[in-house]
Amino acid sequence: MTDAMTLLKSECEACQNCPLGATRTNLVFGVGSPKAQVLFVGEGPGEQEDLQGEPFVGRSGQLLDKYLELVGIPRDGGKVYIANIVKCRPPHNRDPKPEESESCLPWLRQQVRLIRPKIIVCLGRIAAQRLIDPDFRVTREHGVFREKGGILFMGTFHPAALLRNPAQKKDALADFQALREKMEELRIEN
Ligand code: SF4
Repeated sequence: MTDAMTLLKSECEACQNCPLGATRTNLVFGVGSPKAQVLFVGEGPGEQEDLQGEPFVGRSGQLLDKYLELVGIPRDGGKVYIANIVKCRPPHNRDPKPEESESCLPWLRQQVRLIRPKIIVCLGRIAAQRLIDPDFRVTREHGVFREKGGILFMGTFHPAALLRNPAQKKDALADFQALREKMEELRIEN
């Protein structure tokens, strides 16, 4: 982690800007290379993530890791950073409330400023509606790249949704393959 990212993380560890701070076991700040060219953003930590302090480490994380391997950007390979819209676990894995997401987004914005990714992949509806379009519909718009502020955004299925509905795995795989093609087009090494 760069010094600036380490500093940001330590500031974030003290955050109590929304009620989720009071019930977290661990802050789930994010993981990966601060020089990553691809940033993945989910909605928020689940139980395992809260316990371990790392995003996407439960069953859905294993599925995400599988897709990352398939496109040649493994989690620990230095090309990827993984974060969430909210850094503390919403109780009982409910969706983050809009006001909680609003309170937490400045942390993600600072991470984006430090990382300066070329591509941001939103994992699931909550992240895509926050970062791409408030009306984003995953089933209709997944896999589509659109440019905002010099960054390419793409939304795809949340791995937890794929575990509930395996029929969508084919579409998710196509999205990751499209990501790989986009990385090659942009000459992002992998
Ligand atoms: S969810 Fe975000 S804003 Fe709320 S306490 Fe945690 S770090 Fe702070």
